[in-house]
Amino acid sequence: MIDLRSDTVTRPTPGMLAAMTAAAVGDDVFGEDPTVNELERRTAALFGQEAALFVPSGTMSNQVAVRVHCRAQDEVLLEATSHVYLWEAGGPAALSGVTCRPVDGRNGLLGVADLADKIRPDDPHCVRTRLVCLENTHNRGGGTVQSADAVGAVTGWARRHGLATHLDGARVWNAVVATGVPADRWGAMFDTVSVCFSKGLGAPVGSALLGPRDLIAHGRRVRKLFGGGMRQAGFLAAACLYALDHHVARLAEDHANARLIAAAVRDVPGLALTPPEVETNLVWFTADARHGSARDVADRLRAGGVLVAALGPNVLRAVAHLDVTREQCAKAAEVIRNLAPV
Ligand SMILES: *Cc1c(COP(=O)(O)O)cnc(C)c1O
Repeated sequence: MIDLRSDTVTRPTPGMLAAMTAAAVGDDVFGEDPTVNELERRTAALFGQEAALFVPSGTMSNQVAVRVHCRAQDEVLLEATSHVYLWEAGGPAALSGVTCRPVDGRNGLLGVADLADKIRPDDPHCVRTRLVCLENTHNRGGGTVQSADAVGAVTGWARRHGLATHLDGARVWNAVVATGVPADRWGAMFDTVSVCFSKGLGAPVGSALLGPRDLIAHGRRVRKLFGGGMRQAGFLAAACLYALDHHVARLAEDHANARLIAAAVRDVPGLALTPPEVETNLVWFTADARHGSARDVADRLRAGGVLVAALGPNVLRAVAHLDVTREQCAKAAEVIRNLAPV
């Protein structure tokens, strides 16, 4: 099977496993795991941030960020199809008493014009607008990249209005590689940044929240509250360090492989790329009635040896990643091209 469902299905490479078993470890809840400490130092520095907090998942990283920026009765402005809003199980409300205000974007991207009239008045009837959260690259938007200039316009506006800013950068590495804009430029535009090592970078577990020293110290207490304090987590951090050294630049291969798959989707009548251009490793597409449902499409591709994700009644996603080669993606493209209507 050629598994294109997600960039989270990767297994550690032999080199990564060797780095994990060789890791020096200690009790990270005591702050004594040297490998976690090194990962936090390096990742913060890479994004030009003061400090970092290693956490088990991107969801926890985002939710710790919401908690350190907001208090109960605050509101976060975010895009209507963002991960924080759609796919984190209602975390802001459940964990922090925070209201989400979803704002419609274009392919997941928000501009100042979308946000300018969304700040609540200082009125006891209202929640307090407190945080703007962007996602880059944007998953549901199609793996789309928001340019550094466009991001800077939003975060600059937010700062001028006294709002905190957070980047859900689960795939910010893909934005770095796709644009050539270095990590520290993205990092400098936000108060906090969440990054994942377990998506395109191929680590089995791990994300990090990056930000100013005082916020990250607060976040450490929140991580404990949320049950995310881990002990000899250096075994996991070692995989993440290995990924930083070996799996960032190669994301360009995933982007090229995704374009190969996208070209096949484009050739099939009744399938449509959404959006029409693929910028990174995610290929989102829809199937019209000729093909039945998304489930039907996924079933027929599975019969041809290709796994894709059915993520809506007629919405599908195929993802290029570390564990699928150029040859496998070319093979998958052929299977897609031969997809016959039901
Ligand atoms: C996967 C993902 C997350 C959360 O990651 P988990 O580690 O699965 O909790 C956050 N944001 C985006 C955009 C993601 O794709």
